[in-house]
Amino acid sequence: MELPFAESYRIKMVEPLRKSSRSEREAWIKDAKYNLFNLKSEQVFVDLLTDSGTGAMSDRQWSEMMIGDESYAGATSYYKLKNAINTITGFPHFLPTHQGRAAENVLFSTLIKKDNLIPGNAHFDTTKGHIEWRKAIAVDCTIDEASNTTLEHPFKGNIDLQKLEKVFKENPKERIPMVIITVTCNTSGGQPVSMENIKAVSEMARKYGIKVIFDAARFAENAYFIKNREAGYQDKSIREIVLEMFSYGDGMTMSSKKDAIVNMGGFIALRDESLFREASTFNIMFEGFITYGGMSGRDMNAVAQGLYEGTEYDTLDTRIKQVAYLGSLLREAGVPLQMPFGGHAIFVDAKRFLPNLPKEQFAAQTLAIELYLEGGVRTVEIGAILADRDPVTRENRYPKLELVRLAIPRRTYTNNHMAYVAASIINVWERRNSITTGYTITREAPIMRHFTVELDKI
Ligand SMILES: *Cc1c(COP(=O)(O)O)cnc(C)c1O
Repeated sequence: MELPFAESYRIKMVEPLRKSSRSEREAWIKDAKYNLFNLKSEQVFVDLLTDSGTGAMSDRQWSEMMIGDESYAGATSYYKLKNAINTITGFPHFLPTHQGRAAENVLFSTLIKKDNLIPGNAHFDTTKGHIEWRKAIAVDCTIDEASNTTLEHPFKGNIDLQKLEKVFKENPKERIPMVIITVTCNTSGGQPVSMENIKAVSEMARKYGIKVIFDAARFAENAYFIKNREAGYQDKSIREIVLEMFSYGDGMTMSSKKDAIVNMGGFIALRDESLFREASTFNIMFEGFITYGGMSGRDMNAVAQGLYEGTEYDTLDTRIKQVAYLGSLLREAGVPLQMPFGGHAIFVDAKRFLPNLPKEQFAAQTLAIELYLEGGVRTVEIGAILADRDPVTRENRYPKLELVRLAIPRRTYTNNHMAYVAASIINVWERRNSITTGYTITREAPIMRHFTVELDKI
């Protein structure tokens, strides 16, 4: 008999969860102005809002916390993290930052000017925010296959080389400070980028004299997919694959809250020393001195340990199989999903779930609210609200995909929780025809509105 899936860890400490009734949840979501970010965490039973900073640290990471060095300059914790980053990514230079968007802020302050073009694969929202804030333009060059949720394609995060070359050809290279490869591609559904594609993008960028920067939050999950899906990588270790991936780039921004399995942290890693020096000035201004950059010594220790654990095959195998377990329960029930399953999340296709809802009524947000009401499950909209308004015309942008993301925190929930989440969604799926109206926006911020948007029932 083939041995079944089982987690590669056991549990040493638990955190109680609170259940609630439907009528309590109805009152709470109304008070939250129908924005799930406004809920208190005690009002949530299974929290799949994000896998960012919500993972469970290991006993070894907690031990590392105890021996953190809080010296202002030159702390041992800084050197421990520098060594871990160098060992795992191959980049010789690094700057700590308090999270991923801070890394973007520092690096983009160094590299991006007004009217620049930054091509890439479906830039993450904070990445796009930091580009547009500087009056530059994020050009999405993701392959067309990514927007067809039913299509099985092993590397839906790939960059379309023709779209990319068009940007390179039609613009002077001074206007294009970098191309950003997001691994895995969060916005297109936690979908990986193949090594072949990374290599080809890198070769093309070199030819045109343009830098390659990785938005690397889930680089280890990306490596897991390369190992399991791309010919020639089966016998390579995750660490070998990671080193090869980064060998094609000039640097990376990292949200350590993802694949480094910590609750807070980020960094920039770079190949070029002069770029590192330029970025250091902004790091000191925005984050802190270059040997701590917004992080405590103990937290840098936890990131270093987390990077080693996060690039172990068993850690990744446990995680990605748990995500796929939730996905297969939903798929068997016929719930429309983004296929294949993503690395960190399952994405429900809200346009196919609620096909009769007009786009102005935000199908994905409507579905996310229904899932909360049904089982106290918190998810997040990846659709028109997140897509925000066009910075020039101020019109609402309606993306091709209206998705509800079920992001699974690392090492946090059991497969029973996954079964509970699946049952909640399947219940809503069975009564989907009774959901005939959605929501309208009553208040929104000028940029990155989804965090604070307020809505009302139509
Ligand atoms: C989370 C994330 C970021 C931003 O990182 P924070 O730590 O949340 O600031 C950037 N890019 C991607 C792909 C991410 O998933």
